[in-house]
Amino acid sequence: MIRLADLKTQHNLLKAEISTALEQTITGGRFIGGEPVTLFEEAFANYVGTSNCVGCGNGTDALELAITALDLPLGSEILVQANSFIASAEAIVNCGHVPVFLDIQHCDYSIDLAMVSELINDKTKAIIVVHLYGCPANMDAVQQLVQQFDLRLIEDCAQAHGATWRGKSIGSFGDLSCFSFFPGKNLGALGDAGAICTSDESLAKMCKMLSNHGRLDKFGHRIVGRNSRMDTLHAAVLSVKLKHIKKWSEQRCIIAKQFDMHLDSITDKSGRIKPTELATCVYHQYIIRSEYRDSVQAMFTELGIETGVHYPKAINEYYPFAKYKGDTPKAKAVSNEILSIPVHQHLRNKDVDLIKEGLTKAFC
Ligand SMILES: *Cc1c(COP(=O)(O)O)cnc(C)c1O
Repeated sequence: MIRLADLKTQHNLLKAEISTALEQTITGGRFIGGEPVTLFEEAFANYVGTSNCVGCGNGTDALELAITALDLPLGSEILVQANSFIASAEAIVNCGHVPVFLDIQHCDYSIDLAMVSELINDKTKAIIVVHLYGCPANMDAVQQLVQQFDLRLIEDCAQAHGATWRGKSIGSFGDLSCFSFFPGKNLGALGDAGAICTSDESLAKMCKMLSNHGRLDKFGHRIVGRNSRMDTLHAAVLSVKLKHIKKWSEQRCIIAKQFDMHLDSITDKSGRIKPTELATCVYHQYIIRSEYRDSVQAMFTELGIETGVHYPKAINEYYPFAKYKGDTPKAKAVSNEILSIPVHQHLRNKDVDLIKEGLTKAFC
């Protein structure tokens, strides 16, 4: 079976490096905090192009910590796109705020800001923009909106480590940006882990305190915080993988290009993402769209190719989120048609060929 993510192959390739890193950390005897965490935070901030990175427990916590750090009045409205993983909206509610759902553009599934001014009022304080599938949102439009309405900007970068807009890394545009290192993400730990990046020193300090019981030193509890720290073992492993992420992203792009060219030669209705020249995607997922999605998926399974649906419903179609504002017909419509096919860096040439064969069957 060709898997959507191949963590076994990834581990086998890095086995020696990872074993050494784990062994050194265990021998070092520190399992929370310590040098491996600081070293990863520094390296990741450098990679993203922010002055700070704060490790935390997972990507969802990263969003909650970032929202809390902004210290918005309780019940503030926060704009977010309806087609994302549930966490993008869940974090807003868990912080005592109100999500307002925005629709998407058909061409690249990213946030559609055309009608947004109708949804903005005195309570609107922030926007969470998701670089879904590893493709950057239109950051020119987002930044213009943020300036026009004086909003705070959080980037949900959980799927987009290393993607760029106008050559600048995503995660360096927002007041804060949130990353997930869930094992299946482009950069993944051996369990749950996450991080917040920011170039605002006081927000960084706030995230650090919030994630560690409100303190910066052992018993200096200055605010009411919580416990959401990046485990030392995860940090050690992530530092090993970070050295490979650039090459991995390039390999994902090369494979995506092959699918692009193949699809362009057989159909103009593949629903594939067509990024503008300003965006470099890192293809966390490669998306196609078909009104016969379920039978296309069955056909791929028969060929031995795992596929997925990201996501089967818009967030505001789920019961707990249905009561919030925002009309999102496009997000709802595409959720019935989208299919994610494997595009990861560990695909072999013959895997790519078989997937192309599947694409031909799907559209011809
Ligand atoms: C994975 C993901 C998250 C949550 O990250 P976890 O580490 O699983 O908590 C948030 N937003 C998006 C867009 C994601 O894909």
